[in-house]
Amino acid sequence: MTQSEQLFQKAKNFIPGGVNSPVRAFRAVGGNPIFIKSAKGAYLYDEDGNAYIELINSWGPMILGHANELVEKAVSDAIQSGFSFGAPTRREVEMAELICSMVPSVEKVRMVNSGTEATMSAVRVARGYTGRDKMIKFEGNYHGHGDSFLIAAGSGVMTFGSPDSPGVTKGVANDTLTAPYNNLEAVQTLVDANKGNIACIILEPVVGNMGLVKPAEGFLEGLRTICDKEGIILIFDEVMTGFRLAKGGFQERCGVTPDMTTMGKIIGGGMPVGAYGGKKEIMDCVSPAGPVYQAGTLSGNPIAMAAGLAMLNHLNETPSVYARLEEVGTRLTDGMKANMDKLGLNYTLNHVGSMFTLFFTDKAVNNFEDAKTSDTVAFGKYFQAMLKRGIYLAPSQYEAMFLSTALTDEHIATILQANYESLQEIQ
Ligand code: PMP
Repeated sequence: MTQSEQLFQKAKNFIPGGVNSPVRAFRAVGGNPIFIKSAKGAYLYDEDGNAYIELINSWGPMILGHANELVEKAVSDAIQSGFSFGAPTRREVEMAELICSMVPSVEKVRMVNSGTEATMSAVRVARGYTGRDKMIKFEGNYHGHGDSFLIAAGSGVMTFGSPDSPGVTKGVANDTLTAPYNNLEAVQTLVDANKGNIACIILEPVVGNMGLVKPAEGFLEGLRTICDKEGIILIFDEVMTGFRLAKGGFQERCGVTPDMTTMGKIIGGGMPVGAYGGKKEIMDCVSPAGPVYQAGTLSGNPIAMAAGLAMLNHLNETPSVYARLEEVGTRLTDGMKANMDKLGLNYTLNHVGSMFTLFFTDKAVNNFEDAKTSDTVAFGKYFQAMLKRGIYLAPSQYEAMFLSTALTDEHIATILQANYESLQEIQ
């Protein structure tokens, strides 16, 4: 038995399903999860001494690759001065000022400890600000595990959600309305049917969580118009796309400015961090400036702030990072398309900047229904074929891959060779 197999067997006795976050268990692709011992640059190293080229990068944050020297140094310097004070610190002010200067929609920002906290808090603030209860979210978008986000679309009938997970009450589900992504008419119908009751519309402006799905031409602009007309708060969940698809997030790239933005992961340089921010007027509803309560003992943690500041300052000052991320994304996806042409395959490859997904379907993927036409068994085989060749992908069809600047042209060539062989092997 390998070390990973032994660890997983043992873990299952003490941790539900053997993992601390479900996708890690490899349920969707079969086999035993790999237990990671360390990581550096473009590589992960497992407990059995195997090396893998990384295409997940901790689900997004390791934009500069693993254990980047700048972040490492900032963390080790900060650790000399204590781990947590539960009192304000200089770095939190620097971090807030920096985020406000980088992200177009953010005039004030509150730090939290995860993406889930960021989205839960943002929606509470939107409800407090508008005095309305309901929220619209989109099928196949993920906003963390807060109760009100774990709602599936009632197919056809999009008026009331039904709980997706046991433990979510019907009362909570009733306040979450769902629409198909990229469908403005469905949103307009929900808005008309719930006039004056919708506090916010929350979405991933580029979706990573049903595999990568791009917003259709005019979709984000259309949402902005509906929100302006109806006094609804537009929230972009940029937990994955923020600081990755552009310095100011996808909102900078697409030119549509939401009222609020949720962020995570990247702003901690890999440490457990999230944040939500937006217009001053809205953010001033948050306690102690205003009546909407939200708090956190470890929020703005000094070590996490040091890591995040090192990462964000570097991204802010180094435009070549984004040029390289674009180049790596384009080369890799162009190469994968060329491989598929050679093999006579017609799978759909969705790509924006340094995020992409290869869907095992020949249908264009613009929403969750399209994504579900993918052959997930074929994806599982592809995943295992790539892993065998030392390439670590997200272990589910319904995820995006995240690239880092640590990938060299040689790594790209190795990934493309593995992609060709794996696609050929699974036919
Ligand atoms: N929003 C989005 C868009 C996400 O992708 C995620 C997690 N991947 C979250 C929110 C939740 O973040 P966390 O896992 O840090 O709670």
